[in-house]
Amino acid sequence: MDISYIINELGEERENYFNAIAPPIIQTSNFSFKKVEDLRKAFEDEMGGYLYSRGLNPTVEILRKKLAALDGAEDCLVFNSGAAAIFAGVFANVKSGDHIVSVKAPYTWAQRMFDVILPRFGVTTTYIDGTEIDNWESATQASTSLYYLESPNSWDFALQPLAEVSALAKSKGIITFIDNSFCTPLYQNVIGMGIDLAMQTATKYISGHSDTLGGVLSGSKSMIKKIFDSEYLNIGSGIQPFNAWLLIRGLRTLPARLARISKTTGEVLEFVKQHQKIESVIFPFDDAFPQVSLARQQMTGACGLMTIVLKTRDMNEIVLFCESLQHIMMAVSWGGHESLVIPKCAGLKPNEFDPKNKEHRYIRLYVGLEDSGYLINDLGQALEKIKE
Ligand SMILES: *Cc1c(COP(=O)(O)O)cnc(C)c1O
Repeated sequence: MDISYIINELGEERENYFNAIAPPIIQTSNFSFKKVEDLRKAFEDEMGGYLYSRGLNPTVEILRKKLAALDGAEDCLVFNSGAAAIFAGVFANVKSGDHIVSVKAPYTWAQRMFDVILPRFGVTTTYIDGTEIDNWESATQASTSLYYLESPNSWDFALQPLAEVSALAKSKGIITFIDNSFCTPLYQNVIGMGIDLAMQTATKYISGHSDTLGGVLSGSKSMIKKIFDSEYLNIGSGIQPFNAWLLIRGLRTLPARLARISKTTGEVLEFVKQHQKIESVIFPFDDAFPQVSLARQQMTGACGLMTIVLKTRDMNEIVLFCESLQHIMMAVSWGGHESLVIPKCAGLKPNEFDPKNKEHRYIRLYVGLEDSGYLINDLGQALEKIKE
């Protein structure tokens, strides 16, 4: 399906709302019935029609159709956050006694679920270096029911060979779940590579304006129905109509924003790579990236995140660099209009900082929609301030 069609037309029934270009926000909690028989049908299958907005809502339906199509999936559900989508998708596919194989250092709240919540229900997790297919094979146990992937990771951008991992999983009857937030379905079609459940946070690139949260879970009709009937309705964290409307609005410009961000990122990357105060830069499409050929094979773009490492090993200099930026703000998240940095050391107590541990020196840079010259000048003046 054509991306322009998906973004501009799919799911929209403009003749039903005065031919308005922008869809209405159907801000209602419930829907009324004239016939008891119709109400009975809605109780029997809540996914079959509108009953209550914790389940289906017409504004959310437009968004669901578009997001499923972008993923090339049969169906999807949209949650109030990416974390809720992860929770529902994982929870729906494990039971007591099951085992999960996960990439090491997945998104914080996925890891929190594996480490804190699931063990209370008798579900254990083994973390692996997911870059090699053999590591998946050797970590698999008889009770393994789920492979948890995140490719690329959003700090060191480690990738997994997706087609190989999904083929291995299929041969063993294991469900594959991926966090595809980094690329979005525009730059990495994970369903096409055989992944069962594709999750992405909509808070980042889909919203694109740093003004709402959301999360997407795409897969087969039967998988999505299973999750709707249990976890989705039970957790009650489906996206609300206004937020869904904001995400539809964000989608209209998603390809244009990603193209612009990709171009600017290339220019910023060239600047930081050659700078004398920078030791290294990690970016999946950079020739120095260890998995660059796999990245170019399974991704069609790499968007706006990169990790930079300064030559200095002094944490105070890392702090000085981040605090000296005049336009690039310091904040969590990414995918919005505004460029951001976040230093890894902010997640450590000062006495935990180990200058010999390169990861502790990571500074993640997100390139937004500003002009590249504006960002390069800001990075340049902040680099001037620090010692080599
Ligand atoms: C932000 C993020 C999430 C979680 O999304 P929320 O919408 O913030 O809950 C999951 N995975 C990755 C890689 C993220 O960056």
